[in-house]
Amino acid sequence: MARIREAMADVGIDALLISVGADLPWLTGYEATPLERLTMLVLPADGQAVLVIPELEAPRVEEDPELFELLPWKEGSDPVATVADLVGRRAHLALGDRTWARFLIQLQRYLPGRTWEFASVVTGPLRAAKDTAEIAALTAASAAADRVANQLLGGDIRLVGHTEAEISAEIGRRLVAEGCAQGGSIVGSGSNSASPHHGAGDRVIGPGEPVVCDFGGPLDGYFSDTTRTVFTGEPPAEFIELYAVVQEAQSLGVQAARVGVHCEDVDRAARRRIDEAGYGAAFLHRTGHGIGLEVHEDPYIVTGNDTPLASGYAFTVEPGIYLAGQYGVRIEDVVVAAEDGPCALNRSSHDLTVVD
Ligand code: ZN
Ligand code: ZN
Ligand code: ZN
Repeated sequence: MARIREAMADVGIDALLISVGADLPWLTGYEATPLERLTMLVLPADGQAVLVIPELEAPRVEEDPELFELLPWKEGSDPVATVADLVGRRAHLALGDRTWARFLIQLQRYLPGRTWEFASVVTGPLRAAKDTAEIAALTAASAAADRVANQLLGGDIRLVGHTEAEISAEIGRRLVAEGCAQGGSIVGSGSNSASPHHGAGDRVIGPGEPVVCDFGGPLDGYFSDTTRTVFTGEPPAEFIELYAVVQEAQSLGVQAARVGVHCEDVDRAARRRIDEAGYGAAFLHRTGHGIGLEVHEDPYIVTGNDTPLASGYAFTVEPGIYLAGQYGVRIEDVVVAAEDGPCALNRSSHDLTVVD
């Protein structure tokens, strides 16, 4: 809370209004239910923070009177008016990026003539730099995902003859068995591997195909996200070459991720290798995204982002090459920028692995 107030002063925000999304649990330990009933933390730069909350949700909040007061509202009353009262005459307001538009529009009717900012101008840089406990949580989440990756690479998950959807469900079950609250995965086989966010479907995986498996889940609230591309049978020479380019690009991206380096230069380090190999146009996406309480959050490892990496920044490095109608390759690890250099949290093998 103290760091938030300091950051608010730096950017000239008089009150921060936080509703659904990851900012609230990050600050208070309480995650608001995404409901038509408003939950909103009103955090003035110069006063007591108040959590406006539906009366029926209030028992779920662990109170911490030193950090914030609870203000439960009754069915039939107007919580937006309550928030507007708490804001008072404060002029420069920042609203949680994930807040429902209907609450913003109602607030703007009650509070005309104010300036509005994204709450992430305050919370983004603070959330991006993970503290020791958060890095421990991300490390544990990545280790759980690695145990599933090792089961995949070790041949414990039979791919050939199963649909992508079956494999996706199986990976999800294994993530839960390893401690994740839930597991999500992209499974793209054959030509579907050329679609980076392919939704696992009814396609039956055959012999002699690449399978891109991209998966992860939250453990104690913090997410993992890792990708391995395997091949069912002996891969052809062209695929081996393609895979080697992605493997080198991924490694160059990780090595570049030192404290002080700009996000876009990490992207450039991975992309350059793919460009040189002649596949630049087939690397369809940014090199990575921040990860923490959300799968995708600041900082984004993308052209145009000149934010320098700070100690504790956690993000993915996940270059890929996608040849439409043929096949694709992606390799993804979570990396933390630490004072003594980049630290990859995912440790499962990057080598092209043949499975059945
Ligand atoms: Zn993605
Ligand atoms: Zn992923
Ligand atoms: Zn990712």
